[in-house]
Amino acid sequence: MIFIKTEEEVELCRQSNLLVSRTHAMLANEIKPGVTTLFLDKLAEEFIRDNGGVPGFLNYNGFPNSLCISVNDVVVHGIPSGSFLKDGDIVSIDCGAVLNGFHGDSSYTFEVGEVKPAVKALLVCTKEALYKGIEKAVVGNTIGDIGSAVQDHAESHGYSVVRELVGHGIGRNLHEKPDVPNYGKKGKGIKLLERMILAIEPMINMGKKDIYQERDHWTIRTRDGKPSAHFEHTVVVRPNKADVLSDFSLIKKKD
Ligand code: MG
Ligand code: MG
Repeated sequence: MIFIKTEEEVELCRQSNLLVSRTHAMLANEIKPGVTTLFLDKLAEEFIRDNGGVPGFLNYNGFPNSLCISVNDVVVHGIPSGSFLKDGDIVSIDCGAVLNGFHGDSSYTFEVGEVKPAVKALLVCTKEALYKGIEKAVVGNTIGDIGSAVQDHAESHGYSVVRELVGHGIGRNLHEKPDVPNYGKKGKGIKLLERMILAIEPMINMGKKDIYQERDHWTIRTRDGKPSAHFEHTVVVRPNKADVLSDFSLIKKKD
């Protein structure tokens, strides 16, 4: 069952996604060598609650924290901890917030200090791949059009696409139908209808696509130990151009 939203529901979902993006913007100024990922998690939880929201991931299927914080070779679902960020790390911060009964969900991969050019290039390509996918999230296209656009962009740069984890519908529930894979074939899969809300979230590996899950039952890492990047927007399917509800432009790192 795919929930098509009303215009009112779209606006509620916009508010929860803007809270997520404002949380990212706040965190951008706190991400530096020497801070722990648990500190970032606490800041985010406080910020979301101070703004009338509830962290969307906290206790979701038993997840213990408000943010998924995934450093370097961690692809997604990293659990905040007392370990310190180091110069040259990349850190993906996946954030969810519920406001007025609707979920927001967005992820951004940040640089910590000075990051190697090859790793920066992975981040640039992954963000571009996200926008290539968003371009296809219009009425009459299919789920496969989104996935193939993401996959073509990543693979044309020599990177690989994680298969086991996918984007999703979103609304009153964090994860709704349909699945939104970051790979696929043009024209395949369900047709996109106006006011479907989708979280599109490429997870792109610098090396091979293979991953494994740690014994904590959450943390997903690349099998080859090479870095992985993750960018995610929540978008509304529209006739000519998707409406992007989360907003990376709020994220401006002060130097
Ligand atoms: Mg997310
Ligand atoms: Mg998501």
